[in-house]
Amino acid sequence: MIPGLQPISLQELKALAAPRHWSIEGHLDEMASLTPLRGSISAEHQGSILEVKGKFQTIVTLCCDRCLSEFNQTLACNTEELIWLKGNGPKPNELNGSSHSEDMDALMECLDPLGSFDPERWVFEQLSLQMPLVKRCGADCPGPAQQQPSAQTTAVKPEGTDLDPRWAALQKLTSP
Ligand SMILES: [Zn+2]
Repeated sequence: MIPGLQPISLQELKALAAPRHWSIEGHLDEMASLTPLRGSISAEHQGSILEVKGKFQTIVTLCCDRCLSEFNQTLACNTEELIWLKGNGPKPNELNGSSHSEDMDALMECLDPLGSFDPERWVFEQLSLQMPLVKRCGADCPGPAQQQPSAQTTAVKPEGTDLDPRWAALQKLTSP
């Protein structure tokens, strides 16, 4: 839990009629990081949308997918997001009169206007998006560790030796 980053009700944000700012300094519960997460975030209630801006960074320790060794990676965010406060007045694309496609609604995050905004959750989600899908320690990656040659080479049995014992008995009867 980052100190001071408690959820705030959207009604409270609305009553502020100004952006609410938080400074970030600490570690997220859901994401272990080498250095504390540092930066700032702000949220402004604009009627039917919530405008959230954040700029923060941290260093996390990741495990390389190829050589399996650990390396440090900086995760930095400088993002802005509009969150639609669903069920409250005009849709955002009607509001700003722009020619956004109808799909915009589907792409946008939604919040219940009577609910709350959780700045820590938002910060966590933004950082998660920065997480590389393919983790590589760098250009000098030594590559996959050498595989041990398998000791369990399946021995090929001479033909006929692994006959079902019932067949073996039958074979005795049929052979001269
Ligand atoms: Zn590597």
